[in-house]
Amino acid sequence: PPDQFEPDPSKKTLVVLGSGWGAISLLKKLDTENYNVIVVSPRNFFLFTPLLPSCTTGYIEHRSIMEPIRNILRHKKAAVKYYEAEATKIDYANKKVIIRDDSEVKSDRMETEVDFDMLVVGVGAENATFGIPGVRENSCFLKEVGDAQKIRKKIMDCVETAMFKGQSEEEVKRLLHMVVVGGGPTGVEFAGELQDFFQEDLLKWMPQIKDHFRVTLVEALPNVLPMFSKQLIDYTESSFKEEHIDIRTKTMVKNVTDTTIEAAITLPDGSKKTEIIPYGLLVWATGNAVRPIVKDLMGQIPAQKDERRGLKVNEYLVVKGTENVWAVGDCAIANYAPTAQVAAQEGAFLARLFNTMAKTDEIEKDLVDLSDRQATAKADERNEILNLITERQKQLRRIKQVGPFQYTHQGSLAYIGAEKAVADVSWFSGNIASGGTMTYLFWKSAYLSMCFSSKSLLVLCSPIY
Ligand code: FAD
Ligand code: NAD
Repeated sequence: PPDQFEPDPSKKTLVVLGSGWGAISLLKKLDTENYNVIVVSPRNFFLFTPLLPSCTTGYIEHRSIMEPIRNILRHKKAAVKYYEAEATKIDYANKKVIIRDDSEVKSDRMETEVDFDMLVVGVGAENATFGIPGVRENSCFLKEVGDAQKIRKKIMDCVETAMFKGQSEEEVKRLLHMVVVGGGPTGVEFAGELQDFFQEDLLKWMPQIKDHFRVTLVEALPNVLPMFSKQLIDYTESSFKEEHIDIRTKTMVKNVTDTTIEAAITLPDGSKKTEIIPYGLLVWATGNAVRPIVKDLMGQIPAQKDERRGLKVNEYLVVKGTENVWAVGDCAIANYAPTAQVAAQEGAFLARLFNTMAKTDEIEKDLVDLSDRQATAKADERNEILNLITERQKQLRRIKQVGPFQYTHQGSLAYIGAEKAVADVSWFSGNIASGGTMTYLFWKSAYLSMCFSSKSLLVLCSPIY
């Protein structure tokens, strides 16, 4: 069968879980000739998440930010095995991963197991709901391509249902109230994109919705974008005001129904009041939560038992309490923010580390052979072998000098709508905070140049509505 996988017994089997920023960055730089590499992920493509908010309104076509994993892997020197499946359990003691093909196409064989010598967990995180009732049933998330498509459809459904014959004024107001919960970068970028869509398209198509279409951003903390500098937070808030996006800070959502959210608002005197806010579309963007497979693995490793946020890793990204498991990206706790920048750098670091480890293994084997030869060699050969040993030992020392992982922060960048962006960019040893249209052009060019293939670029440059 075409999927028969014959691992080379002389090489270790490296299993990589996930096809996101961390895993793909590792795979791109990994010398796959050194290992039997197996990739497991239910998503058969890499997703360029920074441009996902733009897909919700159709400004960017979703295909342009997807890169098929098969296309990435076909460029590798040695074949890499890929299984479109979800890892449902990591059996750490027995060095096995149980994988399940839960795709829509069903077959006789849905579940199997994969053995590993080395494992990289790069499964990302799921959407946090904090157990708030009604969130899962009634809101849209914004993490995957399917989420963006669902949002796009729902925006138009809300608008068209509001336009239905004989619709009451109260219902029109509710249906055209677009509520975004979470004032982190995901919520802010989506709110900006949505207001752009209203100003640039919806208003032209249906001027009669002008007085009722509203975007509200709800945030529990006193301000949005807590990771940006104060100056850029103020800039974003005033820019949203100009764009008529309503920001409701110190407003914590406690309950969600199919038509309303219930929020606890902290008033200036510190007292609290509860408000019921009707909505047509609800987008929930309150950050990350740990995936069940990661929680389960944490439960198997005593050194992980006090951690709640994900897999604690050491400075070489080794999962603490293990020797052969590494974690990258949003599922790893290494004291960095859960961003694509961090995940990509961690993936690239692991590739360097694994390439080095393979070379080290090879040289160590050579050294054993040379020592054996030296023991039985004639006197005139011994010097030559000794020189070879010294040379090999020098190589080994050089290679072993891979330092621990060090993250280089290149800055934070977010689109805030109306062709404006905010950027806190590291520049030599300082920081530059900028906001506005020039920053937007920088944002756009930075992401265009980062988009992976020329095919993606072509689609990206010709937005399809
Ligand atoms: P992901 O990229 O989420 O990949 C996880 C992978 O694991 C996926 O392929 C998934 O299918 C797979 N997977 C899940 N469960 C399993 C399982 N059980 N078994 C096997 N595979 C599994 N960061 C920035 O730095 N800049 C930005 O501008 C930015 N914009 C963003 C915009 C949005 C809308 C979102 C949602 C996030 C954004 N981020 C941004 C954050 C960034 O996307 C994440 O930090 C990054 O994706 C984390 O990479 P990762 O590899 O850990 O996880
Ligand atoms: P986040 O964790 O950054 O923000 C979530 C926000 O939701 C928080 O401010 C929190 O106070 C608020 N919140 C939580 N519960 C709430 C409730 N019940 N009611 C009201 N508000 C509530 O989440 P995110 O924006 O999804 O970002 C996740 C990660 O991805 C972050 O590390 C972020 O930096 C990264 N990211 C980066 C970019 C970018 O750089 N442009 C874009 C998107 C995401």
